Amino acid sequence: MGTHDSYDFIIVGGGSAGCVLAHRLSADPQIKVLLLEAGGADRHPLYHLPAGFAKMTKGIGAWGWSTVPQRHLKNRVLRYTQAKVIGGGSTINAQIYTRGAAADYDAWAHDCGATGWSYREVLPYFKRAENNQRYANAYHGYGGPLGVSNPISPLPICEAFFQAGQELGIPFNADFNGERQEGLGYYQLTQFNARRSSTAVAYLAPAQSRRNLVVRLNTYTVRVVVEQGRAIGVEVATNGSSSVERMHASREVILACGAMGSPKLLLQSGIGPADHLREVGVPVLHPLPGVGENLQDHLDLFAIAECTGDHTYDRYNRLHHAAWAGLQYLLFKRGPVASSLFETGGFWYADRAARSPDIQFHLGLGSGIEAGVASMLHGGVTLNSAHLRPHSRGTVRLASADLRAAPLIDPNYWAEPRDRELAFEGLRLAREILRQPALARFVKVERLPGVEVRGATELFDYACAHAKTDHHPVGTCRIGAPDASDTVVTPDLCVVGLQGLRVADASVMPLVPSSNTNAPTIMVAEKAADLILGRAAAA
Ligand SMILES: Cc1cc2nc3c(=O)[nH]c(=O)nc-3n(C[C@H](O)[C@H](O)[C@H](O)COP(=O)(O)OP(=O)(O)OC[C@H]3O[C@@H](n4cnc5c(N)ncnc54)[C@H](O)[C@@H]3O)c2cc1C
Repeated sequence: MGTHDSYDFIIVGGGSAGCVLAHRLSADPQIKVLLLEAGGADRHPLYHLPAGFAKMTKGIGAWGWSTVPQRHLKNRVLRYTQAKVIGGGSTINAQIYTRGAAADYDAWAHDCGATGWSYREVLPYFKRAENNQRYANAYHGYGGPLGVSNPISPLPICEAFFQAGQELGIPFNADFNGERQEGLGYYQLTQFNARRSSTAVAYLAPAQSRRNLVVRLNTYTVRVVVEQGRAIGVEVATNGSSSVERMHASREVILACGAMGSPKLLLQSGIGPADHLREVGVPVLHPLPGVGENLQDHLDLFAIAECTGDHTYDRYNRLHHAAWAGLQYLLFKRGPVASSLFETGGFWYADRAARSPDIQFHLGLGSGIEAGVASMLHGGVTLNSAHLRPHSRGTVRLASADLRAAPLIDPNYWAEPRDRELAFEGLRLAREILRQPALARFVKVERLPGVEVRGATELFDYACAHAKTDHHPVGTCRIGAPDASDTVVTPDLCVVGLQGLRVADASVMPLVPSSNTNAPTIMVAEKAADLILGRAAAA
């Protein structure tokens, strides 16, 4: 055991949420804050160039985890990228800035016991975060830390995609985070000045010189220390060392380790379902059945079409094109390097009776982003579709008492057959969009699943071979009513039955929003800061 440092607040996990918390809590120079992050710094240029995303999902800045075999996907094991770097997911993600539907948050508040989290109550936190480069209205703010802007160098195929949608009756939408969510259009992106606006860049960097904020990278928290029902600190190991140091928090320990990391750390600390803890040999400190339950995620099915010419970014796989792209970016801050590759998309209905769109599309400006397609002369274009409100629920569990072992991630995709049906309807729509006349100038022929793949069995085989995560896990430390059996945190984000311990990240969301999850996570952290500082009503 090493030194005993003492802070007011210890934030564990310097990801999308953790960096927001570090910024907001340390704004008061009287408050001593420690931020602990298992990953390293974000110095590598790929983290900052918008196009760096495509190179990162399989490599740097991630834990290297996979799912357990998925029973309803023919036991396939899916790669499950989760961030391990300062800024977390916001440093490695596709930078798509979406919030979901107003009805998502109203469902949190009215159906899930998350009092205080209705759309009307969370909207001010979305706006407070924003430095929106285009909008200033009832839905958007500017002057906040997080850069949000429109794509810089869209390609002509994007406009044809919008027209194709309109040919099918799907309208153009200029702002998915405004009055209406439905339609196809340009995403806004977490970028500022042609660079990624991660929470490490937007929130942490401007706060890092504060003397009351200490940031420790490459520092893995192995356990929350609880004495007499109160979290009093954490034990950490630095740079893979086997010796453990103890850090002391006089006010609170706040977990922001993400939808996998936060339940894992609670379980490692003996806080969770008692049977599971006994099974893996972790002493039960505080039984809490909901920890690691209620895992929800968006499963993605995609179609890939071959293009009639060099209409996407596939050609930049060739060296001379790549060199030109690099130069274009350096000189003009434009071109492919300034693109996150997923800049257009939208929301529509698989179930026409749904209360808000239940399918999301992402148009990928290339074919190489998804594995499994043979190379094509002029490259291709990808249209991803994901069902947004899954009924299936999965789990995160410890594999063993070894604190460094990867967690057992079981999203349990398609356990509910309804999810499969709605996902297939989303894929059907995606394929139909690609076949519309407006795209005929750009799209030659569908290569995946392939025009001949039509029948239910063939489609199921295709899905089992190619489905992937959209990286939106939530729900594993869910907010709920204080007396509900599966509640992990109360609406003020305090862990049920313990003092001095909160969770504030994607894991607290009781239902996955109908969108990507970075902006909702940042909102959670913004509101968490106010709850922690006793200012929640001021928003
Ligand atoms: C590849 C990818 C693409 C995505 N694309 C988009 C997108 O385009 N738009 C969008 O809105 N969302 C996207 N998402 C999702 C979004 O980024 C996440 O929902 C969001 O980052 C979650 O934030 P978080 O703070 O909950 O967790 P994270 O951002 O994952 O942060 C958790 C942090 O805690 C650290 N940590 C974990 N355990 C410990 C421990 N024991 N000790 C110390 N540190 C620990 C981790 O290293 C990590 O840095 C994507 C995610 C991924 C992975």
